[in-house]
Amino acid sequence: MGLLVQKFGGTAVGDPERIRAVADHIERTVKSGQQVVVVVSAMGKETDELLRLAEDVSSKRPGREMDMLITAGERKAMSLLCMALHDLGVNADSFTGSQAGFLTDTNHQNAKILEVKPERIREALSEGKVPVVGGSQGVSVENDVTFLGRGGSDATAVALAAALGAERCEIFTDVEGVFTADPRVVSSAELIPEITYEEMLEMASSGAGVLMARSVEFGRRYNVPIIVKSTFTNNEGTEVKEKVMEEALVSGVTHNTKEVKFTLFEVPDQPGIAGTVFGSLSEIGINVDMIVQNVSKDSITDISFTAPTEQKDAVEDMLKNIAIELKAKGYDVDENVGRVSIIGAGMKSESGVASKMFKILGENSINISMISTSPIRVSCVIDSKDINAALEALHKEFIEKE
Ligand code: ADP
Ligand code: ASP
Ligand code: MG
Repeated sequence: MGLLVQKFGGTAVGDPERIRAVADHIERTVKSGQQVVVVVSAMGKETDELLRLAEDVSSKRPGREMDMLITAGERKAMSLLCMALHDLGVNADSFTGSQAGFLTDTNHQNAKILEVKPERIREALSEGKVPVVGGSQGVSVENDVTFLGRGGSDATAVALAAALGAERCEIFTDVEGVFTADPRVVSSAELIPEITYEEMLEMASSGAGVLMARSVEFGRRYNVPIIVKSTFTNNEGTEVKEKVMEEALVSGVTHNTKEVKFTLFEVPDQPGIAGTVFGSLSEIGINVDMIVQNVSKDSITDISFTAPTEQKDAVEDMLKNIAIELKAKGYDVDENVGRVSIIGAGMKSESGVASKMFKILGENSINISMISTSPIRVSCVIDSKDINAALEALHKEFIEKE
């Protein structure tokens, strides 16, 4: 009998009726003879509400307390789901991330999983119970509760599947699977039946929030097939795996509006400057993404980079100090930016894809302010007001015409 890990997202457990529907679903799975471990997110928009509550109460919001607060959302959902399962005669026990054996680093709000030792989950399974694990949480090497970051329940589910040697990990969400673009933004987006870990990783990292990028990394490293499917229908969804039958030139178009562009003006163009700037930022856990250093004039240059919106205040604090330390002229913060990307394994062997992307954006009067590429991705930072038009145009050209 194979083991299955099933993760239910916020919408799936959004209200009492839906929690009972998820319990029904699990009961049917158990009755079919399948062993199952469940991972749940917080109900509906609860994580956003808890974040807002913290903002209303405090300006400092220490990481340790934030994690204690946010992880309460998943704790609520997991115990309610277990109660609904008991009502159906299914023996189920809930477990926090710590109880489920998730050991993490101490990086509050965005903790990394260091090790998973799911002894209590194995024990519960051997007693014939359904373990229900709170997603996106663990305990740090300093024994504090940690939150794995937004979307972290996906990482909990795939890491648990890997640690337990499960045959696959199913991610139940509010769309039918992974699409060629966010189906809520591009109405002509198409379902992708199968996609490689490599492409999915690039899609997730560049804004396709349907899966957390770190969950895809776990899947790839431990070769766990990940199935993304709808909570509300019985359709097959998308399978994320090592190899697919056909590699498309462009498999998907993504966007990310949760990034901010920072520029340091007139810093000396000397060895060690970039090391100082980005070293200081990485020390406080900032995920700097695109970096552009302009050609220097009179040994003076500008450096621009992007970082996640949620880290804006921390980056700004750091830039204030760095600007003084490096005797830079100043810095600028631009929140009205977004990023569009095209992703496709076929790009590895085909030239001219990037230039075609730039041409399409140009034809639509969209100005590109930064560019970055990987062997299977091209990303452009553009004005946030142009995001939807860029997505439509790129999707039409690269997906619908191919
Ligand atoms: P959950 O609460 O189930 O984890 P999420 O909100 O994290 O759900 O992820 C599902 C959402 O991801 C969808 O509602 C959709 O708007 C968004 N999304 C963004 N890009 C894509 C894409 N390429 N394919 C499918 N969904 C996408
Ligand atoms: N509830 C958390 C969030 O919204 C974790 C998750 O759902 O994956 O980010
Ligand atoms: Mg999610």
